[in-house]
Amino acid sequence: MNASRLAAEHVPDAEKAFFVADLSEVYRQHQRWRACLPEIQPFYAVKCNPDPYIIRLLASQGAGFDCASNNEIAMVLDVGGIDPSNIIFANPCKAVSFVRNAAKKGVDLMTFDNADELYKIARAHPGARCVVRILTDDSKSLCAFGIKFGAPLVTVPGLLAKAKELNLDVVGVSFHVGSGCYDPSVYMDAIMRARGVFDMGADAGYAFKLLDVGGGFEDARFEHAASVLTQAIDRYFPERGDIKIIAEPGRFYVSKAFRLAANIIARRAPLTAAPSQAPTDASDDQPKVMYYINDGVYGAFNCILFDHQVVQPYVLSMGGSFHVSDAEATHTSSVWGPTCDSIDCVSPKTVLPSGLQVGDWLGFDNMGAYTVCAASQFNGFEVSNVIYTTGGVVGSSEVRKALVGFAAEVDERAVFSST
Ligand SMILES: *Cc1c(COP(=O)(O)O)cnc(C)c1O
Repeated sequence: MNASRLAAEHVPDAEKAFFVADLSEVYRQHQRWRACLPEIQPFYAVKCNPDPYIIRLLASQGAGFDCASNNEIAMVLDVGGIDPSNIIFANPCKAVSFVRNAAKKGVDLMTFDNADELYKIARAHPGARCVVRILTDDSKSLCAFGIKFGAPLVTVPGLLAKAKELNLDVVGVSFHVGSGCYDPSVYMDAIMRARGVFDMGADAGYAFKLLDVGGGFEDARFEHAASVLTQAIDRYFPERGDIKIIAEPGRFYVSKAFRLAANIIARRAPLTAAPSQAPTDASDDQPKVMYYINDGVYGAFNCILFDHQVVQPYVLSMGGSFHVSDAEATHTSSVWGPTCDSIDCVSPKTVLPSGLQVGDWLGFDNMGAYTVCAASQFNGFEVSNVIYTTGGVVGSSEVRKALVGFAAEVDERAVFSST
């Protein structure tokens, strides 16, 4: 509303696109996690959305962090009050200087999936607690990682022998079933393989104490995934004694927490095909109008290209009104980003009210995972700002208390408002 009013008063940049981050959403996801997977400590995958308030909130709730680079480690430690033992350096292929930096920062837990990594760790961080990342079935996911990471089981005994020879401590096993996993039954097979690797560890003279079940959890299938995972762990690790179980969820925690508001900055008619080329029956269903908004695939909507997402715009405000009647006439439209590249298409075909004009606002839900973090400033368009809220009635005061209570200083610039 504020943005609309300022834009109407011609305040420069008032129409800039912005995210609204509802931190209570992250808090609720954590409660869901605790209810369904009480035995598993989540190590939030920072790459998914390295927002400092998300990191702080999750730290206050006892989560650890999965980092993949020096900068991610710095982002977590810069929050203050987070012990480096609550970080896993979960990138199996690290620059040797990064391994050295981890040692300096007290980050000991790190993954590997190849022999060269063991040589690097032996050289740069001999006291590390190593975790072997194994290959599992990731074919049931939006983003598979197996082509790049994960040791095939046949290579594991050799790797463990090499680790022993180098005097390294290997403490456990990790895997990742792929990000955006849509068939949680793959956890059963993954845990079975992890069990096999625990036995290989014993054969190599190690007593593994850590099982890291990775990420891949999706909001919509979370309860199902948690139940498959719990059954798998009960089946393959019936007497787990002092084995610590962790996970590396990213998307699950943040996907729903961010929404994006974008302003319609331009509108034009699509190029129509010559009548002779036009298919006779499909004409009604082709976009009648092209809307151009002020964030696109080089910015927040990079998730369309990198994360295989399909986004659905809805009307936030039209002609200054926040209420759009269901009776409003609609037409098929396309929605485009602001850059001069034609790949910058947000939605090739969607139904929107015919009355939408330049200056109106579109909204997009589920914009928290793999969005802001990978946005570029291509063509001079800035990354959209984030406005934080601690949510409405449910959870708001708990979230504020958790944020204020955790870490020494509270950032004075942070203005938490209730929606
Ligand atoms: C990306 C990544 C994650 C997070 O995956 P989600 O599907 O977002 O839960 C966890 N662990 C590792 C090693 C990753 O690369």
